[in-house]
Amino acid sequence: MRRRPKLLWQLYPTYVVITLVSVAAVAWYATKAVEELTVENTIDQLKSQAILAREIVAEDVLGQRWQGMDERCQQLGAKIGSRITVILASGKVIGDTSEDPGRMNDHSTRPEVKTALTGKVGVAQRYSFTVNKTMVYVAVPVQDAPSAVAVIRASMPVAEMTGTLNHIYLELGLQCLFIALLAAAVSLYVSYRINRPITAMKEGAVQFAAGDLSHRLEVPGSEEIGGLAEALNSMAAQLDDRISTITSQKNQLEAILTSMVEAVVAIDNDGRIARINTAAERFFNVKGEAVRGMRLAEAIRNTDLNRFASDTLTGTEPVVRDIVFIGTPDRYIQAHGNTLHDARKRKTGALLVFDDVTRLKALENVRRDFVANASHELKTPLTTIKGFLETLKNGAMDDPESAERFLDIIIRNTERLTSITEDILSLSRIERQQEQGEIQLEKTAFKPLLESAVKACEKRAHEKRISIEISCDDQLAPKIKPSLLEQAVVNLVDNAVKYSGPGTIVTISAVRENNEIALSVQDQGRGIESEHLERIFERFYRVDKARSRQEGGTGLGLAIVKHIAKAHQGRIDVESSPGQGSTFTIHLPAI
Ligand code: ADP
Repeated sequence: MRRRPKLLWQLYPTYVVITLVSVAAVAWYATKAVEELTVENTIDQLKSQAILAREIVAEDVLGQRWQGMDERCQQLGAKIGSRITVILASGKVIGDTSEDPGRMNDHSTRPEVKTALTGKVGVAQRYSFTVNKTMVYVAVPVQDAPSAVAVIRASMPVAEMTGTLNHIYLELGLQCLFIALLAAAVSLYVSYRINRPITAMKEGAVQFAAGDLSHRLEVPGSEEIGGLAEALNSMAAQLDDRISTITSQKNQLEAILTSMVEAVVAIDNDGRIARINTAAERFFNVKGEAVRGMRLAEAIRNTDLNRFASDTLTGTEPVVRDIVFIGTPDRYIQAHGNTLHDARKRKTGALLVFDDVTRLKALENVRRDFVANASHELKTPLTTIKGFLETLKNGAMDDPESAERFLDIIIRNTERLTSITEDILSLSRIERQQEQGEIQLEKTAFKPLLESAVKACEKRAHEKRISIEISCDDQLAPKIKPSLLEQAVVNLVDNAVKYSGPGTIVTISAVRENNEIALSVQDQGRGIESEHLERIFERFYRVDKARSRQEGGTGLGLAIVKHIAKAHQGRIDVESSPGQGSTFTIHLPAI
């Protein structure tokens, strides 16, 4: 950028030029006036001297007593300091201060003499060959009416006059120079005085522009510049105020966006990402820095999402849409879009808010599956009961033997219905208590709890000649909900007995390991294939449906155990290999 000249160097030369021109003009007029005055003075002086000389010599001239006239002219000239010449009307010189009249030629042709002879005062300036100098001449007539008989002339070298003038010029020049220098210095000072507050203001404004709005300008005395400084100061204060308001609002917005669990993306009218919050970065697996300014369609490749964004941008109403992100696993989003406007109500883009509803969707699916499974599980015994009741009604009642058998089947299926319903109820009870934080833990001696659980399973174990062993420290007394934990142990032991062959051993052991209590139920049964291990804790999942049903299983036992472990902030795992037996372990925090 071209460097602009300083104000000082724009003001100062102007002042100096104005001063110099004024001084020169004054000097020129003064010189002219002095010159005119000096010439006039010299002529007046010469005229007075000529008149004086005439007074002295007029009588002798008129009386034609011309003898000694030359000496008198010399004495007179010496006294009054100028050259006096007496010239007769014929042009003959009869006396002169500087020269012998005999050697002087006819003077009647001299212009001043000619004028004087007409009775007037003659004035002339020319070079004199008599004295070899440029002279000023003034001639007066010696009157003897009606015509002049002679002329008295006083003269003086011009050099004398110019000498005086030169002296005056020199004085004047020096004075002018002094005035010019003084004016230049005063101009410099005045320019500096004007320039200084403006420079200070410029520096202050630069500081404002650099963001230092707490800086305040000094307020100079003059109305205009002082007013300007005050206006700038109040502008800076207002700006400071506004900027701090905007900054705090921005910080608030930033904090809100960052702490939001919903993914938020703001786009401009061209569909470019203007802002993206942390949740959105995580959700779409992008880096905010990298995608800012990028088109949404390029940053996040999902046709439905991009259609949703463009519908929001082009529409006037808020848009709500469900979008699926296909992947492993699929993710479900509920998207809300609304247009953004500036202060003048012009559309500036759109705000897109995405809510991850995958978990809700999964829960919904679990619930739907559960209802379907439960209905299915309940339907089978109900159908059986209904069938046998109809058979009985249609005549089987008359055959006591068949009737007895059919009633047994009905009773068994009713028991099955009861146990499924009980299991469903206890599962939902545990879930509800866990959600509402209602489960009260109490310090409980572990060994008696295990013994009581074993008692509940003894009958079936005895039938299969299965012996159940307990290995537990008498002192072990963690904080648990005894009824729930007993139910969990019963479920595990029941399964171990159910799925083990006759004459085998089931071992229950409880040990403290670091900060955990590991409660395991080990059997020597048929084990579980590895592909089922992940799913056996799901509701109604059974490896062998027929076998389970035959054993009176509901498919909910392990799901209940898993929930009980969770309700104690613990977990359950299983180790099993087909033909070798299984070990189910509940890990509880040792508190
Ligand atoms: P069920 O009422 O059918 O026993 P569970 O939820 O208790 O339902 O068990 C789910 C499935 O896990 C069972 O159907 C069974 O196939 C398998 N299972 C559970 N415990 C054992 C075990 N100790 N040995 C072998 N298989 C087991």
